[in-house]
Amino acid sequence: MKHTFVDTHCHIDTYQEHTQESFESLWERIENKPERIIQVACDPNEFEFARQISKKHPFIYSSYGIHPHYVQNHKPEHLELLKKYLKDPKAVGIGEFGLDYYYGKENKKEQIALFKAQLEIALTLKKTIVLHLRDAEADSLEILNQYPLQKHKIHVHCYTSHPDFAKALLDYSPNLYIGFTGIITFKNAENVRESAKIVPLDKLLLETDAPYLAPVPYRGKPAHSGMIPHIAQTLAQIKNTSIENIFKHCRQNTENCYSI
Ligand SMILES: [Zn+2]
Repeated sequence: MKHTFVDTHCHIDTYQEHTQESFESLWERIENKPERIIQVACDPNEFEFARQISKKHPFIYSSYGIHPHYVQNHKPEHLELLKKYLKDPKAVGIGEFGLDYYYGKENKKEQIALFKAQLEIALTLKKTIVLHLRDAEADSLEILNQYPLQKHKIHVHCYTSHPDFAKALLDYSPNLYIGFTGIITFKNAENVRESAKIVPLDKLLLETDAPYLAPVPYRGKPAHSGMIPHIAQTLAQIKNTSIENIFKHCRQNTENCYSI
């Protein structure tokens, strides 16, 4: 049976670098092709690739942001460049940006400043806000609560935390969606599966974060958008429903969140 789905978050340029395989050759060989893909650019060096690949392929859209991993190289003029790329007609999101204390404990202050600077820009736009929030639950909530973003669509991408944080995020805004990657299939990710249990069907998004986080049984290999059905299957088990129902809801949620 043919499923219709969108990979709402991936990094095609990084896939190409890791595998030396072009996107075009990947696209030819994958069995389960997504209907659409959102290419996420994480720093100024990636902006132009996202613009070009989304221009080349009608089914690819783009999102532009400055990831917390990039904070040491950040310069104020990058925010001006970001604003410029966000004007691209295929740009549907601002992000990914946010806080990552798993890798970046030593530069919390700089991360918070960059997070806030991009929330300020997001407030002025009608683009979906793509958040990367890792091991920074308390600060994330404290900062989000300083910004009235409830009318903006938000995609908290690659959820890795516990159910309490998911609940707090869902309470923060009715327009917030939570994305699950291949992590949900990992043996040690019980907290992520527990979180998915409490996320309503109309708030779930499917994403790979490819080439990272390939789902079981591909763990350790480069991930690609064709692996989404493995994530959907695990979500179906968690939500005690059919994979068709997961695909149906997630497709509608993608439209609600990204207007694609
Ligand atoms: Zn990502």
